[in-house]
Amino acid sequence: MECKYAKVVVDLPVSEVDKPFTYAIPVELRKEIEIGYEVKVPFGNRSLTGYVVGLMDKIETDIKNIKEIIKLTSYLSLFNEEILKLAEWMANYYQSHLITALKCVIPSGQRKKKEKRIVKLKYSLPKMKEKLAEMSSRAYKQKEVLQYLMENQGGHLRTSTLAKAVNTTSGTIRRLYEKGLIRYEEVDVRRNPYSEVDFDSTNPLTLNQEQRKALNKAEKLLNQSEASTMLLKGVTGSGKTEVYLQAISKVLDEGEEAIVLIPEISLTPQTVERFKGRFGRQVAIYHSRLSNGERYDEWLRMKKGKAKVVVGARSAVFAPFNNLGLIIIDEEHETSYKQSSHPKYQTRDVATKRAELNEAMVILGTATPALETYYRVQEGEHEFANLSKRIDDKPLPPVEVIDMREELKADNRSMFSKPLATAIEDRLAKNEQIILFLNRRGFSTFVLCRECGFVLECPNCDVSLTYHADQVSLRCHYCDHRKKVPDICPQCQSRYIKYFGVGTQKVEEAAKDEFPTARILRMDVDTTTRKGSHQAIIDEFKNQDADILLGTQMIAKGHDFVNVTLVGVITADITLNFPDFRAAEHTFQLLTQVAGRTGRGEVTGEVIIQTYNSDHYSIQLAKEHNYEAFYDLEINFREKLNYPPFSNLINLTIKGEDEVEVGRIANKLGAILNQQVEEEELKAEVWGPVPAPLAKLRGNYRWQIILKSDNLDQIRRLNESGLEILDNSNNLGSVTIAVDVDPIEM
Ligand code: ADP
Ligand code: ZN
Ligand code: ZN
Repeated sequence: MECKYAKVVVDLPVSEVDKPFTYAIPVELRKEIEIGYEVKVPFGNRSLTGYVVGLMDKIETDIKNIKEIIKLTSYLSLFNEEILKLAEWMANYYQSHLITALKCVIPSGQRKKKEKRIVKLKYSLPKMKEKLAEMSSRAYKQKEVLQYLMENQGGHLRTSTLAKAVNTTSGTIRRLYEKGLIRYEEVDVRRNPYSEVDFDSTNPLTLNQEQRKALNKAEKLLNQSEASTMLLKGVTGSGKTEVYLQAISKVLDEGEEAIVLIPEISLTPQTVERFKGRFGRQVAIYHSRLSNGERYDEWLRMKKGKAKVVVGARSAVFAPFNNLGLIIIDEEHETSYKQSSHPKYQTRDVATKRAELNEAMVILGTATPALETYYRVQEGEHEFANLSKRIDDKPLPPVEVIDMREELKADNRSMFSKPLATAIEDRLAKNEQIILFLNRRGFSTFVLCRECGFVLECPNCDVSLTYHADQVSLRCHYCDHRKKVPDICPQCQSRYIKYFGVGTQKVEEAAKDEFPTARILRMDVDTTTRKGSHQAIIDEFKNQDADILLGTQMIAKGHDFVNVTLVGVITADITLNFPDFRAAEHTFQLLTQVAGRTGRGEVTGEVIIQTYNSDHYSIQLAKEHNYEAFYDLEINFREKLNYPPFSNLINLTIKGEDEVEVGRIANKLGAILNQQVEEEELKAEVWGPVPAPLAKLRGNYRWQIILKSDNLDQIRRLNESGLEILDNSNNLGSVTIAVDVDPIEM
């Protein structure tokens, strides 16, 4: 059937045009066009990119002056009906524009049809010299390009490389082409990530009893016709990956496809190898460290059915499969599964939705399930399988908790407690390796008494109060409760109460001072900005060219260091006192994960956690590796304060460069929302507006408003109408509002 009309969503992220427009399809395009094609369409007096979301044979007669699609700008359909439905669901659920959701599900590198454009001189070198001499001196950039090509043996370079090398644009190169001095060559290059790595093929292992049970359950769920989700709980090294692999085998046998999601930071060649080793060329790799071209090639292999398994980060959940059977999310509790730009989706929930559309299965794997996930297991919404011990019965490492208040009393003011310092010296002497971990997340702005561990908290919200550098006050960024920064500790009257913050650099300096012979590597955002630098540090440490690896969360994940026998946590308090109701959960998860980093080789390891809060349940229970007990305590606390999973939240961030305007708009919006709640008698709370915990970020002032309700639909509608009223009655200028449904950090 050849359709005459198409519905097109144009790439203009404004609310008024966030609906499909109808266009006529020129006769010559009717055979080719499908849902998911990228097109150029006339819009007002310009032409815009758009995506086809529907095809029709006729239209209602009252639509006049229908315009024609100008041309197709993709070579194939970028999404099918199922992915379109998923994007529509995302736009609706996360309150973002449909166009934004669509751009999120399509591959980013799709524009390059031919893989590389290579440029070459048209004349021989001596001839070229003549031509060069003839050229006007005004064309000095063009001359520079030719000069550069000549110096590079006649030249044969990618356009973009060449333009960059002589600091010019592709326009200059085009003009040389038009003058007939150079020519282009298009070369097909298959970009195959990890192609240089050889993968040994592996056979399925004989499963142990718990693995067998887990796989049986998965197979049963895969066989049923409706969608399902199973939590596979098991510590690192308990054999989860082997269960994934055998479940995937089953899916492939059925002629279906599988998606495996792994946090970006853990997507190392070693991880990839385990999947490629079992399934070979059927495996595609998909994550943001690949170039656009590489990503597109892998996307194409999936689209064409050449790859049937994808191993990737968050965005691989949108893999272009037509017969999806299984989605696996490893380390499902990881915060990186929440997208931080619009649409701010939670991968777990998108996966569940996609499984529903495909009658497929989701497996969530982790040692420390997100509280929401375990709650769903308790409620009977998720199936459950447990791997209770490590494969070779290797014990989990012993964990020692050091009370830093005692260290202060013993007059030790160093960052390193006596026991940690002694353990470090001991490992250095034995040529064993050490990981020092600083659980910092972006910023830390709480006030702590180093004498007794007291932290000022909001009496209403049970989160720590946030220090405001510009004032002398502490504030709750949920309810705006305020307090002066005290001079003495309200609990023990000591003067050691102050702003608490420590960075990796400071720890590095201290370590150099105390352990002058140690070779120290530091890994944090500052030392890993260059491409490949992250892996370089890992390799250096793995080769044992360093004794101590010091770093943030980045080092807690995914890497196997067999010679590491000591992990030290410098201070557990940083995540614990994060002004977030999930602070205890994140602390428990991190500490448990860090503890899994040691004792993977022949020698058993040891973990030392330093803290001013040694009796806190999240620390004590991480020490005992006791998730169940932690869950029981934490879920009670959530229920008592009516936090998720017992309620739903939407976080609105109002931001802009003009401090006064941001505050004004935030207050306006707050008033509108409150008025709505009252008028419509909604069961919803409006918290704030208050300055956000990160009150200023990259030149932008930030305020936040939190909406809370037992009924997500009520606050979604509240938000929608609130923003509409604000938009209609105010000039927002450069102030923008970011919507985060189900926020995970706030
Ligand atoms: P996890 O994914 O839970 O961290 P892995 O699947 O990586 O655990 O298993 C840890 C180690 O145990 C791996 O080296 C794996 O090859 C091995 N292993 C897993 N299952 C078995 C099994 N049934 N028999 C023998 N070795 C196994
Ligand atoms: Zn005190
Ligand atoms: Zn509060």
